[in-house]
Amino acid sequence: MQRYSFVNLVRQALRHHRGWQPAWRDAQPQRAYDVIVIGGGGHGLATAYYLAKKHGIRRVAVLEKGWIGGGNSGRNTQVTRSNYFYPASSAFYDHSLKLYEGLGRELNFNVMLSQRGQIVLAHSEHELEINRRWANAIRMNGVDSEILTPAQIKKLAPIINLESRFPIVGGFIQRRAGISRHDAVVWGYARAASALGVDIIQGCEVSGFDIGGGRVRAVQTSRGSIASDRVVMSVAGHSSVLAQRAGLSLPITTMVLQAMVTEPLKPVLDVVVMSAAIHAYVSQSDRGEIVMGGGADVYNSYSQRGGLSLLRATVGAVLELFPSFSRLRLMRQWAGMVDVTPDTTPIMGLTRVEGLYINCGWGTGGYKAIPAGGDTMAYTVAHNRPHALIERFGLDRFARGALVDEGAAAGVAH
Ligand SMILES: Cc1cc2nc3c(=O)[nH]c(=O)nc-3n(C[C@H](O)[C@H](O)[C@H](O)COP(=O)(O)OP(=O)(O)OC[C@H]3O[C@@H](n4cnc5c(N)ncnc54)[C@H](O)[C@@H]3O)c2cc1C
Repeated sequence: MQRYSFVNLVRQALRHHRGWQPAWRDAQPQRAYDVIVIGGGGHGLATAYYLAKKHGIRRVAVLEKGWIGGGNSGRNTQVTRSNYFYPASSAFYDHSLKLYEGLGRELNFNVMLSQRGQIVLAHSEHELEINRRWANAIRMNGVDSEILTPAQIKKLAPIINLESRFPIVGGFIQRRAGISRHDAVVWGYARAASALGVDIIQGCEVSGFDIGGGRVRAVQTSRGSIASDRVVMSVAGHSSVLAQRAGLSLPITTMVLQAMVTEPLKPVLDVVVMSAAIHAYVSQSDRGEIVMGGGADVYNSYSQRGGLSLLRATVGAVLELFPSFSRLRLMRQWAGMVDVTPDTTPIMGLTRVEGLYINCGWGTGGYKAIPAGGDTMAYTVAHNRPHALIERFGLDRFARGALVDEGAAAGVAH
């Protein structure tokens, strides 16, 4: 793998940048692999990387129906944090954040992790009480978290309006939280996995499975059948459809989640701000754009919010917090299909089809989990048993009623 460094940058500049190699090989499918990973998002690529790196399993293919990072991993708002409520979630997400903290060095790719802090706002005394309980639970889980007064919030985000229709009475912060560059995470894992021998095959859609004697034997793809007795499904919003083809039914509701950015401006906000009550979160990207998101589109008998009306509501909520943004023009809006479980905790591990592993149910929050998702799934596949950090996240928890209800810590409601 060609190393990225200042010295190499200067060397390439002197050669008019003609010496750069492609970051990863564009591989052609082989007839068989030791492991097939379906889905070239962050989770699939990270799984392939750790399989090769930590477990020495290098005959691995990542099959991606479109282009790598074209799913939710390239569409998210990049919030990277580990302030979850339950010990099982906290341990998993903090493992992820710790891996993020060393990821640039590990992959020799700048993932632009910016630990600028994330504030969760409270707009009533009652909400502040709940925030206190949440913040205390996070601390008891060994993760950093601090309660903030309105004055402290103002100091961290001077342009925030404390006295809107929804006055800010306090909040809490995780200082190690922040943002990182989503494309870099995808490309960094792809490059490092490819260098270890992993085949990254784009434009290859999996349409079904060959299952015999209760065990997976091969996958059917748009480029023919490919044999493997270990297959990982890592396809986020497409999980229910694909799992059905293996005879599995998943407790997943697939929803649309939107986000948007404004035109770029000079640095004005160097903290991530989230408000569950008014349903919006906001940060400023390194390019200067204000990045905004809210809840998922929901159309059911209780709620009819989605599409443009939800965008309007999200913008309205952000303007309550930051009235000065009203002068900005929106530049882009987009959406992804997110896979939401009843308890807002992912589904990871083995399935009843031997050799078929699943990694899904990330809903609105799986970007921050990419390093830990890849690390623990690779272990699970290599040892055919769940990694200790994901034992509570198995599909069987729904049959046993052993849910890990992280709804309140999901960031934005769905
Ligand atoms: C607007 C938005 C904002 C978000 N913000 C955040 C955030 O701030 N922080 C956070 O932590 N999370 C966030 N998320 C969630 C996060 O993006 C996802 O949970 C995460 O990216 C999931 O990664 P993945 O690798 O599992 O899925 P994906 O990146 O979606 O990858 C799955 C891949 O599988 C491929 N695929 C599907 N079916 C097949 C098939 N049959 N054959 C072959 N390939 C297939 C798809 O093309 C896709 O590339 C956000 C999501 C959205 C949509």
